[in-house]
Amino acid sequence: MIRLWNTLPNIIRMKDNYHSFLEDMYKKYQIHIYKYINLFHYDTEIDNIYLKLRFQCSNLRAEQFTFNMTSDSKCLQCNKNRQETLHHYFMDCAKYNIQISQLKNNITLLHPTFDKISNKKLLQIIKGERDKNIDHKIYKNIYQFIKYFIVTTGRFC
Ligand SMILES: [Zn+2]
Repeated sequence: MIRLWNTLPNIIRMKDNYHSFLEDMYKKYQIHIYKYINLFHYDTEIDNIYLKLRFQCSNLRAEQFTFNMTSDSKCLQCNKNRQETLHHYFMDCAKYNIQISQLKNNITLLHPTFDKISNKKLLQIIKGERDKNIDHKIYKNIYQFIKYFIVTTGRFC
Protein backbone atom coordinates (compact mmCIF):
# COMPACT_ATOMS: atom_id res chain seq x y z
CA MET A 1 0.00 0.00 0.00
CA ILE A 2 2.73 2.42 0.98
CA ARG A 3 4.69 1.43 -2.12
CA LEU A 4 1.63 2.19 -4.29
CA TRP A 5 1.32 5.60 -2.63
CA ASN A 6 4.99 6.32 -3.25
CA THR A 7 4.60 5.67 -6.98
CA LEU A 8 2.04 8.48 -7.34
CA PRO A 9 3.38 11.68 -8.85
CA ASN A 10 4.09 14.52 -6.37
CA ILE A 11 1.51 16.76 -8.00
CA ILE A 12 -1.19 14.31 -6.88
CA ARG A 13 0.32 13.49 -3.50
CA MET A 14 0.55 17.18 -2.60
CA LYS A 15 -3.07 18.09 -3.45
CA ASP A 16 -4.72 19.76 -0.52
CA ASN A 17 -8.14 19.82 -2.08
CA TYR A 18 -9.70 16.47 -1.42
CA HIS A 19 -12.19 16.55 -4.29
CA SER A 20 -9.64 17.38 -6.95
CA PHE A 21 -7.46 14.66 -5.46
CA LEU A 22 -10.34 12.19 -5.88
CA GLU A 23 -10.94 13.30 -9.45
CA ASP A 24 -7.28 12.98 -10.39
CA MET A 25 -7.00 9.57 -8.83
CA TYR A 26 -10.04 8.43 -10.75
CA LYS A 27 -9.10 10.01 -14.07
CA LYS A 28 -5.49 8.90 -14.12
CA TYR A 29 -5.59 5.62 -12.29
CA GLN A 30 -9.25 4.57 -12.37
CA ILE A 31 -8.89 4.08 -8.65
CA HIS A 32 -11.86 5.01 -6.58
CA ILE A 33 -10.43 6.54 -3.45
CA TYR A 34 -12.80 4.78 -1.09
CA LYS A 35 -11.73 1.42 -2.42
CA TYR A 36 -8.16 2.62 -2.04
CA ILE A 37 -8.69 3.76 1.52
CA ASN A 38 -10.56 0.58 2.44
CA LEU A 39 -7.45 -1.41 1.63
CA PHE A 40 -5.91 0.19 4.69
CA HIS A 41 -8.43 -1.65 6.79
CA TYR A 42 -6.63 -4.88 5.98
CA ASP A 43 -3.17 -3.46 6.20
CA THR A 44 -1.96 -4.77 9.54
CA GLU A 45 1.21 -2.70 9.43
CA ILE A 46 -0.80 0.53 9.46
CA ASP A 47 -3.26 -0.90 12.00
CA ASN A 48 -0.36 -1.70 14.33
CA ILE A 49 1.13 1.77 13.97
CA TYR A 50 -2.24 3.32 14.70
CA LEU A 51 -2.78 1.08 17.75
CA LYS A 52 0.60 2.09 19.14
CA LEU A 53 -0.22 5.77 18.56
CA ARG A 54 -3.58 5.33 20.25
CA PHE A 55 -2.05 3.70 23.31
CA GLN A 56 0.82 6.19 23.32
CA CYS A 57 3.63 3.69 22.93
CA SER A 58 4.62 4.60 19.36
CA ASN A 59 7.92 5.68 17.88
CA LEU A 60 7.07 9.35 18.40
CA ARG A 61 10.03 10.80 20.25
CA ALA A 62 8.08 12.14 23.24
CA GLU A 63 6.78 8.61 23.81
CA GLN A 64 10.18 7.00 23.27
CA PHE A 65 11.55 9.50 25.78
CA THR A 66 8.93 8.43 28.35
CA PHE A 67 10.22 4.87 28.04
CA ASN A 68 13.88 6.00 28.21
CA MET A 69 14.47 4.89 24.64
CA THR A 70 15.82 8.25 23.50
CA SER A 71 17.67 11.02 25.27
CA ASP A 72 15.43 13.85 24.08
CA SER A 73 11.88 14.25 22.87
CA LYS A 74 12.34 16.98 20.24
CA CYS A 75 10.70 16.54 16.86
CA LEU A 76 13.32 15.89 14.18
CA GLN A 77 10.80 16.31 11.36
CA CYS A 78 10.25 20.08 11.62
CA ASN A 79 13.15 21.28 13.81
CA LYS A 80 10.88 23.83 15.49
CA ASN A 81 12.14 22.85 18.93
CA ARG A 82 8.86 21.17 19.82
CA GLN A 83 8.31 17.87 21.59
CA GLU A 84 7.13 15.19 19.21
CA THR A 85 3.91 14.31 21.02
CA LEU A 86 0.72 12.81 19.61
CA HIS A 87 -0.75 16.32 19.51
CA HIS A 88 2.30 17.68 17.69
CA TYR A 89 2.26 14.90 15.07
CA PHE A 90 -1.45 15.14 14.27
CA MET A 91 -1.99 18.91 14.62
CA ASP A 92 1.12 20.93 14.77
CA CYS A 93 4.12 19.62 12.92
CA ALA A 94 5.11 22.04 10.14
CA LYS A 95 6.39 19.18 8.01
CA TYR A 96 2.87 17.75 7.74
CA ASN A 97 0.85 20.97 7.17
CA ILE A 98 -0.77 19.60 4.03
CA GLN A 99 -1.65 16.22 5.51
CA ILE A 100 -3.00 17.85 8.69
CA SER A 101 -5.36 20.15 6.82
CA GLN A 102 -6.35 17.24 4.56
CA LEU A 103 -7.19 15.12 7.63
CA LYS A 104 -9.33 17.91 9.11
CA ASN A 105 -11.06 18.55 5.76
CA ASN A 106 -11.78 14.86 5.27
CA ILE A 107 -13.27 14.52 8.76
CA THR A 108 -15.33 17.69 8.28
CA LEU A 109 -16.82 16.23 5.08
CA LEU A 110 -18.18 13.28 7.07
CA HIS A 111 -20.46 15.21 9.35
CA PRO A 112 -21.75 18.81 9.36
CA THR A 113 -21.11 19.24 13.11
CA PHE A 114 -17.42 18.59 12.50
CA ASP A 115 -17.24 21.98 10.82
CA LYS A 116 -15.57 23.53 13.81
CA ILE A 117 -13.89 20.46 15.21
CA SER A 118 -11.46 21.48 17.94
CA ASN A 119 -7.98 20.03 18.31
CA LYS A 120 -9.03 18.65 21.69
CA LYS A 121 -12.00 16.81 20.17
CA LEU A 122 -9.94 15.49 17.28
CA LEU A 123 -7.31 14.21 19.69
CA GLN A 124 -9.99 12.42 21.72
CA ILE A 125 -11.26 10.76 18.54
CA ILE A 126 -7.71 9.75 17.56
CA LYS A 127 -7.24 8.19 20.99
CA GLY A 128 -10.45 6.22 20.45
CA GLU A 129 -12.58 7.99 23.06
CA ARG A 130 -16.18 7.59 21.91
CA ASP A 131 -18.69 10.39 21.69
CA LYS A 132 -22.19 8.95 21.84
CA ASN A 133 -23.44 11.65 19.46
CA ILE A 134 -21.23 10.32 16.66
CA ASP A 135 -22.53 7.33 14.71
CA HIS A 136 -20.25 4.26 14.64
CA LYS A 137 -20.25 4.29 10.82
CA ILE A 138 -18.78 7.79 10.92
CA TYR A 139 -16.13 6.59 13.37
CA LYS A 140 -15.21 3.81 10.98
CA ASN A 141 -14.60 6.36 8.22
CA ILE A 142 -12.69 8.67 10.56
CA TYR A 143 -10.34 5.81 11.42
CA GLN A 144 -9.74 5.19 7.72
CA PHE A 145 -8.78 8.85 7.29
CA ILE A 146 -6.48 8.68 10.32
CA LYS A 147 -4.74 5.67 8.80
CA TYR A 148 -4.57 7.50 5.49
CA PHE A 149 -2.88 10.37 7.36
CA ILE A 150 -0.36 7.95 8.88
CA VAL A 151 0.50 6.54 5.45
CA THR A 152 0.75 9.90 3.69
CA THR A 153 2.97 11.54 6.32
CA GLY A 154 5.41 8.64 5.93
CA ARG A 155 6.56 9.24 9.51
CA PHE A 156 6.68 5.54 10.41
CA CYS A 157 7.81 4.06 7.10
ZN1 LIG B 1 7.52 18.53 14.12
